[in-house]
Amino acid sequence: MTQLFTEVGQAAKAPSGLVPFRFREVGGDYLLSNFLGDWVFVTKDEMRSLARGELQTGTPLHDKLASKNFLRDSIDAAKAAERIAHKKRFLNYGPNLHIAVVTLRCNETCVYCHASRANMDAVHTDMTPEIGEKVVDLMLQSTSPAVTLEFQGGEPLVNFPVMKHMIEYALARNRAYGKELEFTMVSNLAMMDEEKLAYLIDRKVQICTSIDGPEHIHTKQRKLVGGNSHREAVKWIERINKAYIDIGLDPTLYHVEALLTTTREALKLPREIVDTYVSLGCRAIFLRPVDPFGFAGRTAQIVEYDRSAYNEFYRTAVEHILDLNRKGEQVLERYASIFLTKILGDEEPNFLDIRSPSGSGIGALAYNYDGKIFTSDEGRMMYETGDPAFQIGDVFSSNYRALMKHETIRALVMASIRDTQPDCVNCAYAPYCGVQPEHSYRTQGTIFGRMRESTTCAVHKGIQDFLFGKLRENDPKTTEILRRWTTVRARTHFIQASSAS
Ligand code: SF4
Repeated sequence: MTQLFTEVGQAAKAPSGLVPFRFREVGGDYLLSNFLGDWVFVTKDEMRSLARGELQTGTPLHDKLASKNFLRDSIDAAKAAERIAHKKRFLNYGPNLHIAVVTLRCNETCVYCHASRANMDAVHTDMTPEIGEKVVDLMLQSTSPAVTLEFQGGEPLVNFPVMKHMIEYALARNRAYGKELEFTMVSNLAMMDEEKLAYLIDRKVQICTSIDGPEHIHTKQRKLVGGNSHREAVKWIERINKAYIDIGLDPTLYHVEALLTTTREALKLPREIVDTYVSLGCRAIFLRPVDPFGFAGRTAQIVEYDRSAYNEFYRTAVEHILDLNRKGEQVLERYASIFLTKILGDEEPNFLDIRSPSGSGIGALAYNYDGKIFTSDEGRMMYETGDPAFQIGDVFSSNYRALMKHETIRALVMASIRDTQPDCVNCAYAPYCGVQPEHSYRTQGTIFGRMRESTTCAVHKGIQDFLFGKLRENDPKTTEILRRWTTVRARTHFIQASSAS
């Protein structure tokens, strides 16, 4: 890239009439993206002409740029404003995700989780019913018309009575608010039983679990005292999926969601991990790299790795997923789906860590078992390791307005706007990207982050390089599969009745 401009030298001059755009070399061509998120590939020769200020009307390059809103004269300003407002409509509402850590106690020990668990005898880390009610009260005050209460831990099933109490209380209180209310539980499933399951199915609680890959790697990384963590998870995934079918739900849409944490060990097994997920009936695989919040420095040395190795793993795994799709298997990768939804259309999937500004505080709030409130679950984990930087209040003394106007939230919003940050401001991927400022703070000591040294940025660049590489190849079958991954099918069964009474 630098070479191209060195070559053009003093002849460099921008053609008039172009809108500001960013560019990046992908697969030997140049990807150009503009403020609307429209993009186009130009050849090296075409880029050279642009760098010399040459753009003749009636040429294929001129037509290509005009058709994708790169030329000022051909832009419909009203339509452009409408598109931007549509993409950023999440800014119209307050937080919709409310994470309640109902206990820190956990029956499993995971290599990548040191901060967010406590031993089973640490009963003082259980949320009380009174705190649970205050969490629900605050959640229902959100200006978002749809709210999700997500139960986390530790292992939430350890404090099942309080979880149940919060669900019943939320259902009763919501009659006065009439919000679209959803419940989600993130569990390792080892403490599930038929009675609990019957309640969760009856109350339409979505269930999400963790699978680290094939049995040998899962059990090595997630220790269950006196049991096999993988067998327990698999047994209950199958049981829950059957329960959904029994009540007449479409299994392609309603099934247990499982999440992967990609450790160093997992990097060696991209295809095996994909096959494990497919064999469990999962239609979406989220190839998440290990994050730095849960573990202490010593464990990081066991599970962490260079992000170029992760990118290699990601490419191999997604190529395998694409091959499975070509053979008729309907399965997608979640990162790809999030980025492609923004790249191929004007929809915003509202994934809080990959949007600009991020969802810290304005898209989500996390409530600790003791009632303390944080801008995200990661911010809460930082508190558990001794850094209260992301605490913005507590359920006893804070009111909703004060929380939303908190200076920490304002700072996090400023820090996560990609269009104003060094590095991102010049990055062709800025229209589709986002970072979590808590992650930058944890890894680099600043909420603004230095993206050229950021592991999140390395992953986001790697994934978008891969996706745009595929789009540049323009193979009709592959493009059709990638487009299919952007289709959202709403799971309306999980939405509680929204009419106020
Ligand atoms: S985080 Fe990295 S990939 Fe994303 S916009 Fe910023 S520089 Fe680009």
